Amino acid sequence: MKQLKVNRLLTVIFASFLVVMIVLRVVEFVLIKELSIVVNIGLFVYLIYLFRTLRRLSAHTAVLRNPYTQFKTKYELLSDHKKTRLPTHNMCAIHIDNYQDIIEVCGVSFVNVIDKNIKDRLLKIVDMTHIYEINDHTYFIMTSNTVEKEDILTVFELPMQGHKENDTYPLNVKVVTISDDIKESLELRNVLDLVDVAFYKLNNNKQSTFTIDQSLINDVNEENYYKGHLQQAIQKKEITTYFQPKLRKKDKIIVGAETLSRWLENERIVAPSKYIYIAEATGMIVDIDIISFEGSLQLLHTLKEQDLLTDHFKISTNFSPITLKNINIEDLQSKLDLYDINPSHISIEITERLAMDYDHIKPILDEIKTLGISIEMDDFSAGHASLSVLPLLGVDTVKIDYSVFPRKPFNQDEIAIYKGLVNLLDKLNLTIVSEGIETTDEYLLIHDLPVDLIQGYYISKPLPKTTFIDMLHNLEKHPNTD
Ligand code: C2E
Ligand code: CA
Ligand code: CA
Repeated sequence: MKQLKVNRLLTVIFASFLVVMIVLRVVEFVLIKELSIVVNIGLFVYLIYLFRTLRRLSAHTAVLRNPYTQFKTKYELLSDHKKTRLPTHNMCAIHIDNYQDIIEVCGVSFVNVIDKNIKDRLLKIVDMTHIYEINDHTYFIMTSNTVEKEDILTVFELPMQGHKENDTYPLNVKVVTISDDIKESLELRNVLDLVDVAFYKLNNNKQSTFTIDQSLINDVNEENYYKGHLQQAIQKKEITTYFQPKLRKKDKIIVGAETLSRWLENERIVAPSKYIYIAEATGMIVDIDIISFEGSLQLLHTLKEQDLLTDHFKISTNFSPITLKNINIEDLQSKLDLYDINPSHISIEITERLAMDYDHIKPILDEIKTLGISIEMDDFSAGHASLSVLPLLGVDTVKIDYSVFPRKPFNQDEIAIYKGLVNLLDKLNLTIVSEGIETTDEYLLIHDLPVDLIQGYYISKPLPKTTFIDMLHNLEKHPNTD
């Protein structure tokens, strides 16, 4: 904040000088009727000088070091190594993962103690001139000497001493190193961006070290590409829908499907895992969910035309919480009217995440239900408090998350948890869908359980519309009797 204010002040000073200069020139021109070249060059040089001084001053304000460590900052790192060739240096970044947790327990007065402790440890690896604090409790080492990540893990091995003699706190450290073979192709700024990505990845898993290599660069490039092209893909109608059949266990009939989005990009299929999270972060998910919703209506419309639409056939579409919050109910109604579809053939899949925002979401789900559309809970897993929320949200079908499904080699505890969950849901009179069933063994495992519908590669992968319809035609001619 302080730095922002100083920068703003400097900008104001600079701008006012500029105005004064221009006014002086105008006055000079009006009074003397000509501009003296010497005065103009003088003013011009003075302006450049002023600009550079202010820039230096403003940059200086960015160099506010942590008073307890006095480590140099990210700005100093970039300016110290403006001309350094990266292959001649070793770089690594270190993040103290539980720093905030310790401060929460010990209080802010402990910042001083913990920072000094971290500093002492880092100084065992390299000297002060090679350590930078690039972010809160994130440090960057840049040195021509060798630095091994094992050494860093070793110096952070022992817990630190708290206020009292018996209080000790481990410092959970995450270390990011940079593979030698990519240094030639990178600038320091790129390295720092990749370090952020690497820490983000470490944040989502239990490992404590990560090496930035070409595959991470490829991932980042790919992600940037998708980020840059998704909007256009929606406009160019490259986002399409696939359908994964759902089989009713008791009579082995296909009684529905889940609509799954696919991006058809230059004749290749981009999986939702590559773009749904981007769409959620940017709000484009609303468009994508509507495309999927419309895709399911189009399929139902075709099935109706071809006399393949049975009374119990139902298609579910995934709606993100963002979509639910932004949906226009009249829009859904007019789409149902447009394709002339009875809403009893439609359901919306929502996820457990949404139950957290219960007060906000409940009225929206109620509106959707008044249209005649039903609600399914997707990705349902054991150990969540949402069991009680199911009846409140008006959910009539629950799809058990495939992370809960026991996989080979079957483990008795996992099987017991899965069976317990199925039996519990059965007592609530809910339709139970088990997804991710891949093999005969897995199918046999649930054969005698009160699971109603099965979805998974064992039945079929998600299919394009025409293939899905062909499959239904074939089944009609040759019903599945095994
Ligand atoms: P989901 O809703 O849990 O969908 C099930 C995912 O499991 C699908 O992945 C499906 O292809 C995959 N799957 C089905 N059977 C099996 C199996 O036997 N084994 C394995 N390993 N996987 C199986 P997909 O199509 O890649 O979609 C991934 C996720 O992306 C979906 O998970 C859903 O959360 C999201 N998604 C897809 N389309 C949309 C959409 O139109 N809107 C929204 N909001 N999310 C969507
Ligand atoms: Ca789903
Ligand atoms: Ca799911």
